[in-house]
Amino acid sequence: YRSLFEDSFDTIFIISNSGRILDVNQACLQLLGYTPRELRQLDKLDVLIAKEDQERFYREIVEFGSVVDFQGELVHREKRKVPVLVTATPRLNENGGQVGYQGYVRNISDRVEARQLRQRTKQLEVNATVDPLTRAFNRRYFLQAADTERSRALRNKTPLSLILLDIDHFKAINDEYGHLAGDEVLAAVARRVHKEVRKSDIFARYGGEEFVLLLPDTTLEQAMPRAEKLREDIETLKIVSSSGASISISASLGVAAWPDEQSLNETLAQADKALYQAKESGRNRTQAWLASTSSAVI
Ligand code: GH3
Ligand code: MG
Ligand code: MG
Repeated sequence: YRSLFEDSFDTIFIISNSGRILDVNQACLQLLGYTPRELRQLDKLDVLIAKEDQERFYREIVEFGSVVDFQGELVHREKRKVPVLVTATPRLNENGGQVGYQGYVRNISDRVEARQLRQRTKQLEVNATVDPLTRAFNRRYFLQAADTERSRALRNKTPLSLILLDIDHFKAINDEYGHLAGDEVLAAVARRVHKEVRKSDIFARYGGEEFVLLLPDTTLEQAMPRAEKLREDIETLKIVSSSGASISISASLGVAAWPDEQSLNETLAQADKALYQAKESGRNRTQAWLASTSSAVI
């Protein structure tokens, strides 16, 4: 038993009811920088438990009489914090009276570091694919994703469509309300569009005040009502800027099917032509690019 105790990688301890450490194995030196002897001389445990965790720790002990895999931080002798799991259960005498606690502390630094690394990597990935202002995908991601969706569509023989959405007279919004309000309008439009976007759609900020939607498994006929819904949503959007201005806007949309034999650039150009016609015919419109007539208003 003694050698199990001494050889353990976890720090094993016995403490009294008053919180004095009666026994602890050598692992504490590695974990906290104190020798077992030094720990036995401590009056209170507080110096070892991170301030932010103390209340939670003592509350659990009082409420449940024990802690099991309590996750918190201990304070190393050199003041740095060590993430740990603590288990402490009551220690009873032969009459069943509680004389203290026994338990162990596991160092989970590696686990925590690995998790932080994963989170940081994920954040980096998000930053590389998402436009920070609108939370829509950025153009670069869109081009990659379009490639993937295209291969999938060819393989599954499913249709693909594309919508270009450009805010009308956006320059005038900037001029009238300021660039910051302009940014808020962009964010509000993107938020509204996000509500209509399906999981399989790819919604990206294509340029300044221009967005693109790639709709997998969607024909031109199916894409049109969806584009029209977006146009209505944007037209009825009430935006209040942080300076208190009420701003109403509209958008024009160009819609094109992406047939098998065509490149992404050709399809984008067709959607852009339709968008241009929507602008020409008065803005706040949805227009499809139709191959037969080269373009027609819907
Ligand atoms: P149209 O109806 O023909 O689309 O007119 P428009 O004014 O929307 O189009 P134009 O291309 O003339 O102007 C777009 C403006 O969008 C110009 C540019 O300063 C502004 N813009 C581009 N990116 C941003 C941005 O991130 N924030 C803000 N506030 N403005 C931007
Ligand atoms: Mg515009
Ligand atoms: Mg534009």
